[in-house]
Amino acid sequence: MVSPNSWQITPKQPENNLPKAHGSGRGLTNRCTMVTATEKDQITAEEKFTRLLRQNKLKVTQPRLGVLKIISEKETAISQPELEKMLGDTVDRVTLYRVLATFEEKGILHKIFDLHGTATYALCSTECDEHHHHDEHVHFICSSCNSIYCLDDIKLPKINLPEGYQLQSVGINAVGLCAECKALTK
Ligand SMILES: [Zn+2]
Ligand SMILES: [Zn+2]
Ligand SMILES: [Zn+2]
Repeated sequence: MVSPNSWQITPKQPENNLPKAHGSGRGLTNRCTMVTATEKDQITAEEKFTRLLRQNKLKVTQPRLGVLKIISEKETAISQPELEKMLGDTVDRVTLYRVLATFEEKGILHKIFDLHGTATYALCSTECDEHHHHDEHVHFICSSCNSIYCLDDIKLPKINLPEGYQLQSVGINAVGLCAECKALTK
């Protein structure tokens, strides 16, 4: 078994005086390191996904590993039908549906609706956990190829609601042409 520290670069340190997230420290796990290049050299993708599943107290299964592998390799968000095609016969539809629902619940994936209202999925930021998603960024949707990109650096504005209201989600989509489609129009 790989020691938890053997592949961590610098785990996020909470500022002095700040309480630890949710007591367990789960919220500070370095989920994003799944995609950093230096770590790729030290540990295989499968080992990383295995760790991620275990951190979330999920059983390591082939369908779960398969979904993580595909999504982590894609730059854009991916829909269930697309995933189904890529996984082929290895995972049936009901299992895939459950895998996606569990991952969303655990803060591993977040859901974005494309221009046709189809749900697509992208990897979450490190701050997401079982209780809250913190993917507070704008999504870019290409009106030509329908690809969805997480614009991690463009944060959502803070929404101040009138008294008595409760916020459940905020979504801002920027719609336009992705670089590839834009190049085709020249
Ligand atoms: Zn999330
Ligand atoms: Zn495009
Ligand atoms: Zn996103």
